[in-house]
Amino acid sequence: MNKRHYDVIFLGIGVSGAFTAKTMARHTNVARMAMIDRRPGPGQVNTGRARNSGTGHNGRLESNLAIGRAIEVSGEFDLLRGFAYKYAPGAITTVPGLLFGVGAKDVAFLRDRFAKLAPHFQDLRLLERDEIARLEPALIEGRDPSEPVVALYTAEAYAVDFESVTVALHNEAHRAAFETGKTLDTYFDTEITRVTRTATGFELVAGDITFTCRSLEVAMGNNSILVAHELGFAQHLVPTTVGGSYYVADARVKGKVYTPQDEAVPFAALHFDLDANNHSVMRIGPLAILLFMMERGSYRTTWEYLKSGALTPRGILGWLRAILFNPPLRNFGLMCLLCLLPIVGKREFLRQVRRFIPLMQLSDLTFADGAGGVRGQLIDTTNGTMSKATRIPTPEGMPANFIAAPSPGASVSGGNAVRSVRNHVKWLGPDYWFDEEAMRADLLGAIPARAVS
Ligand SMILES: Cc1cc2nc3c(=O)[nH]c(=O)nc-3n(C[C@H](O)[C@H](O)[C@H](O)COP(=O)(O)OP(=O)(O)OC[C@H]3O[C@@H](n4cnc5c(N)ncnc54)[C@H](O)[C@@H]3O)c2cc1C
Repeated sequence: MNKRHYDVIFLGIGVSGAFTAKTMARHTNVARMAMIDRRPGPGQVNTGRARNSGTGHNGRLESNLAIGRAIEVSGEFDLLRGFAYKYAPGAITTVPGLLFGVGAKDVAFLRDRFAKLAPHFQDLRLLERDEIARLEPALIEGRDPSEPVVALYTAEAYAVDFESVTVALHNEAHRAAFETGKTLDTYFDTEITRVTRTATGFELVAGDITFTCRSLEVAMGNNSILVAHELGFAQHLVPTTVGGSYYVADARVKGKVYTPQDEAVPFAALHFDLDANNHSVMRIGPLAILLFMMERGSYRTTWEYLKSGALTPRGILGWLRAILFNPPLRNFGLMCLLCLLPIVGKREFLRQVRRFIPLMQLSDLTFADGAGGVRGQLIDTTNGTMSKATRIPTPEGMPANFIAAPSPGASVSGGNAVRSVRNHVKWLGPDYWFDEEAMRADLLGAIPARAVS
């Protein structure tokens, strides 16, 4: 049996694991680290460029976030934005962004939200019909002039290729380790099949290799919950694996157009995004559907889904309660189901789209087959509610961080990394330090002064 020992192991090399590893390699004195993933490269599951909407969420347009959280999200996104400017400049593009409201109810909601957000975000503006028509003509062309509309607008929304950012994070982690004389090993194509607690930390098994470590970062996306269950906690949380699909069309918008989102629905409401790597194409979605697998297109992960407890009587009751007794979520689910039906589905989707882009035609829309990741939304089976936590709470004294489908996603991975690294150095002992100030200076210093939020 092949044995390898490290101070800290990062399980999963998506954007979450890679950001934490890079931060630790560059800004702490932890000397022996390893990153492990079963895929052949970084960022190939939900972080993959075809798997998510590629939006850098910065709190301006996410109407489901409480105002305080929106401000926090802006600060956390700045860490990723600064990293991208400095180390992966091709992976981030500034585009205009709108939160577009149609009809009296949405218009009143957006006016109120603007009043609350404007003191915190100087770049945010409230646009009336004429200005919307000038900036995003497709939203107004062909619209009934008596229909009320309004929009929150920022010139600084972001299209991000999170996969490329993750490749750069992985490279920078290695550069930092090399320059500071630390050990950082990466194991790709290495699937962890068992995790156990030991007197001094954890033991992980992958084929004929046994890894041990003193503290552990579990950033395995939807699979993080499986490790928690294996270690005997968070049994009351089960994942509902919701696939987010989308249509593509020739770009009709000039940036990102979001629509008001109900906070009870874990997916953004219908939105229009320029493809991060090809601005002549826009993605329109999401359409969510229950998929009984942890990773899109990987049928072997159905077994992992079955192990998660989601299909036990307690699990089924939990997520049925969460969906059926939550009218906005139930209605969203029914709408998605309808839109995914053969023949009539595309027409129903077009009807939804035309509320925002009135002149859109059926022939403009192409379903992006098999694209879009799987969000493993955790359900608390004790009360049938959706967990909004970005981290799975661990038992007292367990030296491990568990990152669950962090909301609002990859955009806040820098904030998660800071919290994780603070924990690791605390768990490792008083001889260990984290120079958080240097980390912030390095990343935030890369943001042009006028653009710091
Ligand atoms: C449809 C959709 C749209 C989204 N849009 C956005 C958006 O616009 N903006 C945004 O900020 N976020 C968005 N998100 C969320 C975002 O994609 C995720 O929050 C983020 O990518 C999660 O990163 P992660 O590193 O935590 O997990 P992942 O990227 O899923 O990485 C987990 C890693 O763990 C590895 N792993 C799993 N099991 C094992 C094992 N047993 N052994 C070894 N390795 C293992 C996997 O191979 C994988 O590489 C979206 C998500 C979805 C589903």
